[in-house]
Amino acid sequence: MKNLKNSDVSIEDIPSDVFICRFIEGDFVVVDGNETALHSLKLHKKEIYGKNILDILPDIKETDFFSTLQEAYNSSQMIEFNIPCYFNGNLCRWHKGSVKKLFNGDLILYYKNIELEKELEMEELRYQLELFSEAPYVGICIFGEKFLYANQVLEAILGYSFEELKEIAPIDLLHLENKEEYTCNLEKRLKGERFTTAYYDAKLLRKDNKEIFVRLCIKTVQYRGKYVALASVIDVTKMIEQEQKTKRLAQALEQTDDLLLMTDVEGRIIYVNNRVVQKLGYAKEELMGQKVNIFKSGKHSRRFYKRLWNTILSGEKYSNMIINRTKKGKLIYLETTITPVFDKENKIESFVSTSKDVSYQMKTKKRLKNLATIDTLTKVLNRYAIDKEIDYSISLAQRHELSFSILMLDIDHFKTINDQFGHYIGDVVLKAMTKVVQKNIRKVDKFGRWGGEEFIIILHGTSQKKALKKAQEVREFIQNNIIDDIYKITASIGVTSFKEEDTKASLLARVDEALYKAKEQGRNKVVVY
Ligand code: GH3
Ligand code: MG
Ligand code: MG
Repeated sequence: MKNLKNSDVSIEDIPSDVFICRFIEGDFVVVDGNETALHSLKLHKKEIYGKNILDILPDIKETDFFSTLQEAYNSSQMIEFNIPCYFNGNLCRWHKGSVKKLFNGDLILYYKNIELEKELEMEELRYQLELFSEAPYVGICIFGEKFLYANQVLEAILGYSFEELKEIAPIDLLHLENKEEYTCNLEKRLKGERFTTAYYDAKLLRKDNKEIFVRLCIKTVQYRGKYVALASVIDVTKMIEQEQKTKRLAQALEQTDDLLLMTDVEGRIIYVNNRVVQKLGYAKEELMGQKVNIFKSGKHSRRFYKRLWNTILSGEKYSNMIINRTKKGKLIYLETTITPVFDKENKIESFVSTSKDVSYQMKTKKRLKNLATIDTLTKVLNRYAIDKEIDYSISLAQRHELSFSILMLDIDHFKTINDQFGHYIGDVVLKAMTKVVQKNIRKVDKFGRWGGEEFIIILHGTSQKKALKKAQEVREFIQNNIIDDIYKITASIGVTSFKEEDTKASLLARVDEALYKAKEQGRNKVVVY
């Protein structure tokens, strides 16, 4: 068989390992081989004649090379092969070549041993496997139609043992929107097309029927002589559940009745929920990056804010009623708790403030308090409140030796105003008179209606002498400033100062006596008792 097809070409001229086989009684028997082939097998020519080709190449026995030969024999087509050769169970080299039927019915097969190249490829695969295997959360598998390899992580992720997985087609575990694409991709891979596909949250069905989310990356590799798919599988179920939880939490934060606000350590706003937008009247964009003092109402002292910041900067929670101002300038009363948030190094990272709007309750409370202590007609303290103020002033004077004086004022001939102009005008004059007096006393002084057109003024820390002077001023002021000439009025004022041995009764009796004297002396007078 030195001559092929009557030409001068010999199998020795072919720069590959070459064998000629003949199909005899169901076996492919070697009838010739070139020197190159004999050299690489370390055999003599006489050792190969008449032998089954698979016996000569024992290391390819485990593959289905026989069927490749049959296919070539039956089809007369040239068939390429790429066969891993194992020695002692280890891959030692690859035969890459072709087999073709000759005109006489013999088969010629010629191939090259390509050890190094395949080794490198395997080396790379091994490296990839090792790399992944080092990450304890990455499941690794190799598969064709069915699973060919799975690491322990994947067994844990799927709940199947590898023995069970061997019988399973990966596609049956996958819940993909587009199974066709997956199948098509797999076919391409098995034919040797190399590409990588990533699925970011593919659904997988575990053995216990639980659905899990995985991040999947599939690429084509060669494994045991075949093109297959290598996949890395990361279970992201917890992560996705956490994401969904966070989303739900964010929704809840938006829907809650409480005002929620987050700032950085310097008090710059980094988050507000819708309630803040609604209640304070600013758009979210207006607030982001602004300092919280944008809400400052001017109703708290600097000490108040200093204490707040000292508390939260020391890592403590702060709770208090904070009066803020809306964008439109209205006051809003917020029952607020501010909590520091710490980072991993236990440093304060931000502050979370939650507030309840208690403006309505505060206004009601204020209204009720007013009702109890304020005279409805003149808006100065009522008799109950001024009586309490006298008690308080006495206790203060006793404890701190801080004396005070008291004036009792009664409008002169007020009945005639009522008689002349009617009760309504009488009321107007009363209101106007209280305004005039208020203008003439200090904020700390207490001014109240004792009854009818009779008033009491408490002057804190004021001696009798100074009180007399003040009373004269007030009297003159009333005389000179009352509404207009028609309703011109005057008042009489009694003055006295608190003495150590005084009770409320003795104090009031004295000032009443003084007032009586002022009236007696002809009205529009001040009398000190
Ligand atoms: P004088 O004090 O100078 O002795 O004379 P007077 O006319 O002011 O006498 P008196 O203090 O006894 O009378 C108080 C009057 O004030 C009686 C009442 O008609 C009137 N008065 C008391 N309360 C009110 C009020 O709420 N509204 C009006 N319009 N009048 C009142
Ligand atoms: Mg009077
Ligand atoms: Mg009176």
